[in-house]
Amino acid sequence: MRRSLLFTKTTKNVPADETAKNAQLLIQAGYIHKEMAGVYAYMPLGLRVLENIKQIVRDEMNAIGGQELMMTTLQPRDIWEKTDRWDDKKVDNWFKTKLANGTELGVGLTHEEPIVDAVSGFATSHKDFPIYVYQIQSKFRNELRAKSGLLRGREFVMKDMYTFSRTQQEHEAVYERVVEAYHRVYKRLGLGASTYRTYADGGIFTPRFSDEFQTLSPIGEDTIYVDEAKRIAINHEIYSDENLAKLNLNKADLVEKKGVEVGNTFHLESKYTDALGMYYTDADGKQQPLIMGCYGIGVSRLVGMIAEHFSDENGLVWPDAVAPFKVYLARLGDSEQAIQQADNLYNYLTAQGVTVLYDDRDARPGQKFADAELMGMPYRIVVSDKTVASGTYELKRRTESESIHVSEDQLLENLSNTEE
Ligand code: ATP
Ligand code: MG
Repeated sequence: MRRSLLFTKTTKNVPADETAKNAQLLIQAGYIHKEMAGVYAYMPLGLRVLENIKQIVRDEMNAIGGQELMMTTLQPRDIWEKTDRWDDKKVDNWFKTKLANGTELGVGLTHEEPIVDAVSGFATSHKDFPIYVYQIQSKFRNELRAKSGLLRGREFVMKDMYTFSRTQQEHEAVYERVVEAYHRVYKRLGLGASTYRTYADGGIFTPRFSDEFQTLSPIGEDTIYVDEAKRIAINHEIYSDENLAKLNLNKADLVEKKGVEVGNTFHLESKYTDALGMYYTDADGKQQPLIMGCYGIGVSRLVGMIAEHFSDENGLVWPDAVAPFKVYLARLGDSEQAIQQADNLYNYLTAQGVTVLYDDRDARPGQKFADAELMGMPYRIVVSDKTVASGTYELKRRTESESIHVSEDQLLENLSNTEE
């Protein structure tokens, strides 16, 4: 992509109405546009980051047999009444609206009820199970506070998966496969080492614990206690002597940390399927209950989390796997040779499958360098009259302060050493 054609603009001014660093940086670098508190639009660069994260999530959900579908945002009241989750006193962050004739509708904030309702029309026999379905789409929640930028939106992108199993044993195996897939997702996002499976409250319907996936970060809203040797943590909400004993954790091994909840997995037992009248018939023709699990990943929260966590005083510092482009190619000056060398390199790298944002604008070097830092692509390459004369390229990793001069072969070698 040529910078001269890219629809975006960077700004030095920190947005005055924005207190969260992730949103400040993403707005300054031209990735997102703030519509109002807790509601952000994705500009071309931001959308590329969002799509990169979605694709990693999608790959890993598909790899364990997940099938993608898309449920609706508009929700009928009756299915939510069956589980007693319609009433504002029960669920306090619903957005609701009305049809012209006065019929009340809900604006989707999660999808257990509609998924059960939809899947029950297709799957009835024991031969139809297990089923894993998921979607990646916008959710709407009337959050009381929306001051954390993309970390807590009123409109945000979530991946939600739902599984239906015939037996408890089948459910446990499915659940652990999803947990393994989650670990692979966070690893690919560059968060593997800092993300912990964390025991948490199971919700209103079950005495079992749920699992949260908490990424350690000073910006985290959650307090968790980490057992580093076991690579397990426990949320402070359920931190008690009784639960520690149940979970076989020792107080002495736990260290208090701040975490961002980047995903979670829940055991739903048969609460939703029973309430909505969904069962399967076994081999003997007898009606049996279904065991459900649900599993969320905060896709847009991850954009904000990664943006803020991997930033420095000059701007964003994207991990390779989510960066909108791998390379920021800055052409300095507009001599014929510099233009030629930069154009050639751009075409060559692009042909090799390397994603390049080519700063071909007529702008000062200082402006280009500042933008390269702010936008945070993993590598910066400079082409100028000097590099043309020396037959080398100037290469800098975003995480380092010094650049190196390399030949074309060395350049490719460097670019293929992708960090995991
Ligand atoms: P939280 O505890 O942060 O309020 P939650 O427990 O209500 O989240 P779920 O409803 O299970 O979360 O949603 C699944 C995932 O979606 C969460 O793990 C989180 O990463 C993300 N998420 C939840 N609420 C928001 C929000 N308002 N903005 C952005 N991401 C969110
Ligand atoms: Mg939670």
